[in-house]
Amino acid sequence: MNVMLLGAPGAGKGTQAAKLIERYGLAHISTGDILRDAVTRGTPMGVAAKSFMDKGELVPDFVVIGLVKERLQRPDIKGGFILDGFPRTVAQAQSLGDVLKELGLKLDAVVSIEVNRASLVNRLTARRTCKECGGIFNVATQPAAASGVCPTCGGALYQRDDDTVETVTNRLDVYDRSTAPLVDYYRKAGLLKTVDGNASADHVFSQVVAAIGG
Ligand code: AMP
Repeated sequence: MNVMLLGAPGAGKGTQAAKLIERYGLAHISTGDILRDAVTRGTPMGVAAKSFMDKGELVPDFVVIGLVKERLQRPDIKGGFILDGFPRTVAQAQSLGDVLKELGLKLDAVVSIEVNRASLVNRLTARRTCKECGGIFNVATQPAAASGVCPTCGGALYQRDDDTVETVTNRLDVYDRSTAPLVDYYRKAGLLKTVDGNASADHVFSQVVAAIGG
């Protein structure tokens, strides 16, 4: 099963991807995670990407398209994959279509997770991620995470550099301008399923599972 998760920053794509991986063992392709890893390792691509990411701007299309094309050629893709945070522009979506065709792959479903803007701002600024297990928590709704220690594995929780109020506002504007048109793009392609992402993560997950016919 090859699934794309669409949705604004903070809609819960990462959380739902983790649940899908646990249930179906799919490979996770998150361009945000790949870029953050490159930033941490200080690779030339990471250094170049950081200036865009810190402002909440999109990294140039050719960079992320190249990353995804390479990732889609790894063997673990054969068992199915989740695209999370890619594509983010119509140009990326068109290139993805070309790459999938070239590699003999196809998407089974595109799931758009829809959350109102006020909740997105609250979620993003309260988001903390575990340095050890990558778990995602919300300090406003999960008091166990407010201590800065991961409730799952005991690792240290950190706030992403781009989850500050100023950067979040720009990221949401960039989403509305550049990424939201993909909802129509995939609706026209007959692949789109929408789920209400305002509910609890477990409730959203049951909608996602139903949407992909799992
Ligand atoms: P994310 O973790 O998906 O919210 O991505 C964090 C940041 O990485 C974004 O704000 C962008 O700067 C960059 N990024 C991630 N995915 C893409 C993409 N598909 N196209 C362009 N930039 C991206």
